[in-house]
Amino acid sequence: MPDLRIAGLAKRFGAFSALENINLHIRDKEYVGIIGPSGCGKSTLIKCIAGIFTPDEGEVFFDKKPVTNAPIQRRRIGYVFQELTLFPHMRILENVSYGPRVQGRRPEDSRALVAELLNLIKLADRSDSFPSELSGGAQQKVAVSRALASGSTLLLFDEPFGALDAKVRTELRYEIKEMTSDLGLTVLHVTHDQEEVMSISDRIVVMKKGRIVEEGPPLELYLHPKEVFTANFLGEANFLEGRVVQRTATGCVVEIAGSKLQTSDRTRKVEEEVVVAIRPEFISIVQDCKGQNCVTGVAREIRFMGNSVRYDVEVMNGRMVHVQHPICFGDLDIQLQDKVALQMAARYLMVYPQPKEGLEMELQLE
Ligand code: ADP
Ligand code: MG
Repeated sequence: MPDLRIAGLAKRFGAFSALENINLHIRDKEYVGIIGPSGCGKSTLIKCIAGIFTPDEGEVFFDKKPVTNAPIQRRRIGYVFQELTLFPHMRILENVSYGPRVQGRRPEDSRALVAELLNLIKLADRSDSFPSELSGGAQQKVAVSRALASGSTLLLFDEPFGALDAKVRTELRYEIKEMTSDLGLTVLHVTHDQEEVMSISDRIVVMKKGRIVEEGPPLELYLHPKEVFTANFLGEANFLEGRVVQRTATGCVVEIAGSKLQTSDRTRKVEEEVVVAIRPEFISIVQDCKGQNCVTGVAREIRFMGNSVRYDVEVMNGRMVHVQHPICFGDLDIQLQDKVALQMAARYLMVYPQPKEGLEMELQLE
């Protein structure tokens, strides 16, 4: 029953601060995804938990016991990284049995467990193969089994599917998720793939520049991100700068590019400079605006994407607004350089205070 708690963790490399004040609680049997731009400290955090790095500040607790200074082999963690790391000269069976063997267990004692794990990943018939004879996806499944054979109930995945083809990666993520939840394991899974993190995590932690930006269940983070950075990094969003002009019974009205948009935000004040975000799929593109909450513009680019259409619409202040939704017949009437109206329902508009260092700076990934 591993419950993992990280309190006030900091890690520096010389003068460079790779992690700052990381606080995180991962409950027993939870599957937590960590996402953030390259270089934001994801691997450093995983290595501090695994015991590969010693943090400069803070503590790591497993089941309330501090393990911050415990050596890696005493932490009973399963660790799978991006690179395929099976022992090349050992057969699959020997690879999976490696952990129990170095722990001093007799082969006959671990044989049943190893057989069960190979069955679980549907590779029992390949137990005599060498890693190089298996596909990348199969090798990564073996790596997960090897991690499990050591008896770890806490798994740390650091971009484990990063080296695999897109299709294999998608299949594997659901297989691994199912397997770990069937076995009741606790998983911390680092990835930079937003679809991956949203589709398998119970909870997502968003990181930026060595810090946690926010955390929450996938749908909650997607629909109601508390931070501009999250709105931009998880999925895609349009950002429009404006000013609150009125407060109403249902929220506030923001003036953007010459239009007034009703939002459901109740926190901002009249005259406040704000940033309004909306995802491309929540905007309806029409020829004439009926009703409220429209911004007018000109269709500058129309791209047929197969199952969806994507428009770049230039609005009054010169900004480009992206609209993308499943193709429907009305779309085919809109031509390049047509005047269009973008309908934005109040409930999809996310309102943020104007970032202190400006919008561009806030959206920067590095
Ligand atoms: P991520 O996994 O999010 O891409 P990392 O945790 O690997 O990022 O790295 C975070 C930052 O710390 C990067 O700027 C990286 O260059 C730096 N870093 C990581 N490991 C070391 C190290 N051993 N020595 C010096 N700098 C490091
Ligand atoms: Mg990394």
